[in-house]
Amino acid sequence: MKKDLIVIGAGPAGSMAAINSKCDTVLIDQRAEIGVPKQCAEGVSESLFKKIGIKPKKEWISKKIKYTSLISPSGIEIKLDDKRVKKAKFGFVLNRKNFDKGLAEIAANNGTELMPKTRFIKAERTENGVKIYAKRFNETIEIEGRILIACDGVQSKVAKSFGLNTTLPLRYIESCYQYEMTNIEIEPAVELYFGRVYAPGGYVWIFPKGENSANVGIGIVPSLTEKRAKDYLDDFLKRERLKGGKIVEINAGAVPISTPLEKTYADNLMICGDAARMVNPLTGGGIHTACISGSIAGKIATKAIEKEDYSEKFLSEYQKLWKNEFGKELEYYGKAQEVLIKLTDAELDKIAESLQEIKLESISTMEILKAIVKMNPKLLWKLKSLIT
Ligand SMILES: Cc1cc2nc3c(=O)[nH]c(=O)nc-3n(C[C@H](O)[C@H](O)[C@H](O)COP(=O)(O)OP(=O)(O)OC[C@H]3O[C@@H](n4cnc5c(N)ncnc54)[C@H](O)[C@@H]3O)c2cc1C
Repeated sequence: MKKDLIVIGAGPAGSMAAINSKCDTVLIDQRAEIGVPKQCAEGVSESLFKKIGIKPKKEWISKKIKYTSLISPSGIEIKLDDKRVKKAKFGFVLNRKNFDKGLAEIAANNGTELMPKTRFIKAERTENGVKIYAKRFNETIEIEGRILIACDGVQSKVAKSFGLNTTLPLRYIESCYQYEMTNIEIEPAVELYFGRVYAPGGYVWIFPKGENSANVGIGIVPSLTEKRAKDYLDDFLKRERLKGGKIVEINAGAVPISTPLEKTYADNLMICGDAARMVNPLTGGGIHTACISGSIAGKIATKAIEKEDYSEKFLSEYQKLWKNEFGKELEYYGKAQEVLIKLTDAELDKIAESLQEIKLESISTMEILKAIVKMNPKLLWKLKSLIT
């Protein structure tokens, strides 16, 4: 098969790359059904759809969030609702299975050749571009193209095929475990539980999906504890409120919590989303950045193909553009993660006490961090790197 553009991975990054490409594009994914299984808590901000210029379909959204609760190790709750937050937009819990499949459908309807159940094996450079080898059912197929966009998630193989080192130290991998549960009492709220007692280096989340169902999950930094993420989550489920809950789905996965790869392009190659570690290291959220980086890469690939220039010099524009969009933010959250991971549960409780009367302009990680720094002069020596 010969194409202009080959995109590997039909997650949000890959589908957005394909949607934004205006050339002969193929999008391959190893999954038989795009979006399944979901490995995600599915929370996104309200700005996502405006940013990517796509009107969400009804079936992409499971629940609109009305407030956010942050809970400290000893149980102090900071309820961020419309009384506390001026521009009270708390985001959505998506239905990732429908969302991912929906984006891939848009790409296919726009002319992209979509190939599910096609697993990337390796890539090599050719005289005029790239060639990939993939397994489709039991057959090895070859696809030649000018440009390759790697959107194959946290365990990306594509970048390694081009000699880029993407190995991540254990300290920068968050191990996640999640149950989708039903038969539990649910508020239309995102609930986040912090502290080593719940989740060393991460947090426990409850993200509502329906009237009495939710994603109940955990992310931990495995190098901080002997126990597994699942052990902590099972302990959490023992609380009264969740005791009658029934598990309807189990998901596990890893989230990169470092800052992004230093170089996300090479001759004939761009790397997007989780494959380039474009995840907010503080929250583990990566849907937004995956969508934006994919969109940019798709547009740059189109330009490169028009100009017949696939050099790393030309493709470096990709890195400039995504850095303009969210580079500084991810760097700041990386610093914040380094600081917050070292706080003791007692210090987290003090921070929670200090935020009891908090008032915010909008609900964003940045706003909350600024408030923490402002309200905790005694912790300033620990928080000083967060002062911009
Ligand atoms: C438990 C958990 C909870 C999370 N919760 C949230 C959240 O609430 N909000 C948020 O914003 N982010 C969350 N994230 C992170 C978010 O899921 C990712 O950042 C996002 O999915 C990244 O999108 P992507 O397109 O880069 O990669 P992915 O969504 O991982 O897509 C990669 C695609 O590549 C395909 N692929 C991989 N290898 C190959 C191969 N060899 N050949 C062909 N195809 C291949 C995969 O099948 C997959 O479809 C969570 C992650 C986890 C693990």
